[in-house]
Amino acid sequence: MLNLFTAKTTRFDAPVLQLFNTESRTLETFTTLYGHKVLMYSCGPTVYDYAHIGNLRAYVFVDILKRTLEYNHYQVKNTINLTDFGHLTDDGDAGEDKMMKGLKREGKPATLAAMRELSDFFIDAFYEDLGSLRILPPTTFSRASDYIVEQIALIKTLDEKGYTYETSDGVYFDIAKFPKYGRLGNINLEELKSGARVEENTEKKNPADFAVWKKGELGWDSRWGKGFPGWHVECSAMAIATLGKQIDIHTGGIDHIHTHHNAEIAQSECATGKTFAKYWMHSEFITIDSTKISKSLGNGINLRHLIEAGYSGDDYRYWLLTAHYRSPANFSFDALKAAKQALYRLKRHIYEEYKNISGKPSADYIKRFHAAINNDLDTPKAIALMWELIKDDTVDNSAKCATIKHFDKVLAIGLSDELDDALFKLGVVSVDDIPDEIKQLINDREAARIARNWDESDRLRTLINLKGYTIEDSASGPKISKS
Ligand code: AMP
Ligand code: ZN
Repeated sequence: MLNLFTAKTTRFDAPVLQLFNTESRTLETFTTLYGHKVLMYSCGPTVYDYAHIGNLRAYVFVDILKRTLEYNHYQVKNTINLTDFGHLTDDGDAGEDKMMKGLKREGKPATLAAMRELSDFFIDAFYEDLGSLRILPPTTFSRASDYIVEQIALIKTLDEKGYTYETSDGVYFDIAKFPKYGRLGNINLEELKSGARVEENTEKKNPADFAVWKKGELGWDSRWGKGFPGWHVECSAMAIATLGKQIDIHTGGIDHIHTHHNAEIAQSECATGKTFAKYWMHSEFITIDSTKISKSLGNGINLRHLIEAGYSGDDYRYWLLTAHYRSPANFSFDALKAAKQALYRLKRHIYEEYKNISGKPSADYIKRFHAAINNDLDTPKAIALMWELIKDDTVDNSAKCATIKHFDKVLAIGLSDELDDALFKLGVVSVDDIPDEIKQLINDREAARIARNWDESDRLRTLINLKGYTIEDSASGPKISKS
């Protein structure tokens, strides 16, 4: 809850909230459709596997946005969907259904029941990830297979209004019937036509027409035969069902702009006759070694891998917030380690130097913090401001403590948690406290170092890390701490 102090500063002195709208490609002053309420829909995960650390950025971004809106006294009603069928590997109409891929990988049969079971498992894993990253649960998690009736009804409306046509393998949206098609990302339809790869589906009138219904043996019954709704229909139908025909904000990753979100706009607006979303916001990609994250490339790191290697959700969230959501960011364990250390130092300031005694927060720093996050969620600036505050001798410790905890309402990296001694007993562990197995690994590593076998010594250091200990080389020998 916001304290009175914030309410006061925001009421009289609040900086305007500016958000970057992909549609206008500019920063816009945020105004709502319905008073102090904000309706927000966010494209969620396809639950055929664990979300990788890149995917999770999309939801940390949604969380920062939601917290910023709440910080500005808006009441947010939001939906994150869970795609449990119909998302093809290609994002368009080609490729394999990702859920089918998941079923094959797990050796499960291609049935709706098996799909449900597989997605149950990865939905739970996703909720766990959101918890570790302190992502506030949305008002609604909408699971695509729970909204089949709404999806079929939406396709029926489009069909009856003449926006679709049927082929032997499905029902397609005819983009020629919606002249505003492609307005997100300024898609040039002529270029799209001439640049299209050889179209496998010769029955499509335009290569950019997209499936709203795919016929197949697996799925649900409909007037167009058995099959399942297209991935884009899921989001239009669930946004309308859970939030209404017109929403304030729609979010997703940048990969959604071109096809998925243009398709959502076309379907929703043709069905309802109203502008679908006022602000379209997109988060950029995370890469590893400047390469796309993908299981097939062997770099599909998920949050469990980070936790096993001794990092927390807070460490990863802190690292994410050091980059602006619209900038690409390149992940490395070195960068994550630096984030972990920085976060640890922040906590140590609160606990050891400020003695966890919170006074009145600094009005000046709160004002600057508010200006930073209201400037299109400038979290790197907010974090830099926190470090500036720590070094600022004109602010006393109790005010520093309170101000940092205040920032944590939006940043949510555990700075207002109850901190206790245990966290700060990390320091150097005495030899007696180190298990024999770790002692052996340390000795082996020392031997490798003496032999100048750096590969082996690095391997052993990683192994030691994975087992929860950190090794630091000093003039007097290795220092061991618990991570
Ligand atoms: P998916 O589960 O494939 O539907 O993707 C879930 C979300 O992750 C979407 O919002 C994507 O835009 C986003 N996404 C996919 N890959 C990355 C990445 N490498 N970095 C950041 N976001 C990503
Ligand atoms: Zn979507």
